[in-house]
Amino acid sequence: MNLRDLHCIVIGAGIGGLATGALLARRGVQVTVLEARHYPGGCASTFTSGGYRFDAGATVGCGFHSGGPLDNLGKELGIIWPVHAEPIAWQYRHRDLRLDLSSSRENIIARFPRSQTFWDEQARLARTLWRLSADGLPWPVAGARDVAGIAGRALASLPDSLRLLPFVRQSAHEWLASHGLDADADFMRFIDAQLLISVQTTSRHANALNAAIALDLPVAGTWRVEGGIGAVARLLAESIERDGGAVLYNKKVIRLDSIRREVLGVETADGDALAADALIANLTPESLEVLDDSPPAGKQDASASSGWSAFMLYLGVDATIFDHAGADHLQIVAPDGELGEGRSLFISASPEGEAGRAPEGQRAVTISTHTDAAPWFETLHQGRERYEEMKKQYTDRSLALLFEQLPEARDALHSMTAATPLSWELWTGRRWGHAGGYPQTSLFGVRGPATKYNNLFLAGDSIFPGQSLPGVVTGARRTVELLSQRASKLRW
Ligand SMILES: Cc1cc2nc3c(=O)[nH]c(=O)nc-3n(C[C@H](O)[C@H](O)[C@H](O)COP(=O)(O)OP(=O)(O)OC[C@H]3O[C@@H](n4cnc5c(N)ncnc54)[C@H](O)[C@@H]3O)c2cc1C
Repeated sequence: MNLRDLHCIVIGAGIGGLATGALLARRGVQVTVLEARHYPGGCASTFTSGGYRFDAGATVGCGFHSGGPLDNLGKELGIIWPVHAEPIAWQYRHRDLRLDLSSSRENIIARFPRSQTFWDEQARLARTLWRLSADGLPWPVAGARDVAGIAGRALASLPDSLRLLPFVRQSAHEWLASHGLDADADFMRFIDAQLLISVQTTSRHANALNAAIALDLPVAGTWRVEGGIGAVARLLAESIERDGGAVLYNKKVIRLDSIRREVLGVETADGDALAADALIANLTPESLEVLDDSPPAGKQDASASSGWSAFMLYLGVDATIFDHAGADHLQIVAPDGELGEGRSLFISASPEGEAGRAPEGQRAVTISTHTDAAPWFETLHQGRERYEEMKKQYTDRSLALLFEQLPEARDALHSMTAATPLSWELWTGRRWGHAGGYPQTSLFGVRGPATKYNNLFLAGDSIFPGQSLPGVVTGARRTVELLSQRASKLRW
């Protein structure tokens, strides 16, 4: 079937779904996006509450550098992103250690001089990886064509690509140990904190190559998005509409209508039934399963599954606090204890003076910490009171860590709302509120866009290469490629 005759439904207006939909619409596919909420963006949305505009989850714009995934996407779709380069990506704070992460490693090397050779190697690996994945990687391979594609790129990047081989099965910890850095507790805590927010796991479990590219993010550059990160989703939705597609809000898909290995269409909560030739599910596999088996007999009562989500605080804060903090994004890590669960915070303040983000003299601040989703659902099961107690414990622990580094914030809070994995489940439709993508422990066994259906593909941070705006945009290109290959082979 010609792509131009194809009608494609995209379930979900997260960045992965919108980027896939926009690329397809640009190629002439008739695209209809169905979004459960009344706004786009999912984990990367910006919402209004009590006079503030808060970023819900993602706050740091990445991938907008020249040739980066967002830059290339914007050029292809004719979008001029309203972004401004940040001089400091974020500031790391642990006890009395403060490190500004930016395009230069000099301050990190000055503090940890023995890490010089590690950073030299990281930079070399990252350069090769960026080059290999410049226009999306055919990974995980889905046939001989992809194997040939990978081999072609590797050959074109020789001899650098050969240097990747020893790291393919190595953990980040083994790599750091090979530089004699594993005994430096402060350096390892710093690296673990960087890896947790980027590859969703710490050095003992993270793959070395995933770590090499993740540690490069501040070097590649970070951007502030005017009006909040949600502007990216809004511009992608507009691009779909400009190319003849539709983005329908308050349209929650509740069931897939399928025969054997084909999905014929979807049913929505408001009683509509829509037919499609092909579908993109901007969902986690667990959320897709719920639609697939509908009604999900017994599934709602199944015990909660473990996996990362985020505990959040949305604060209205005196602007002066951040005028003196040294950066608008701070990563604060507790003196000791495992990271996450309120012992490591990522804090982002709306830019100084940005109109519409906060009442005069204040900033809208988003604080997040990794949390295992399951205990939240289990605690709710024991009663609302227990759940509220748990929420208070996390709030107190997070605020204590914030005040340890920014004591003046104690008297500068104007408003505060907490959110938990239950909020993430409600906001994004992600089963158990699992957010932030999968832990990048290995390059093998990762998920691609294909599903058990011939005409339904996944998009978003559950597929390779995983979480972040550049991650899901790179994944979107792979989804488009697989759908196009299938469309040329099949009679849909
Ligand atoms: C706390 C936090 C902080 C983060 N920080 C950053 C950061 O600073 N920088 C960065 O680049 N990345 C960051 N990320 C990661 C990034 O936000 C995500 O990887 C990315 O936004 C996920 O996009 P997605 O396409 O997978 O879709 P999602 O964001 O999951 O969106 C899915 C969409 O589908 C809709 N939907 C779900 N079910 C249905 C249904 N049945 N019918 C219709 N619609 C449905 C949802 O409402 C939602 O809009 C962060 C993530 C979190 C959670």
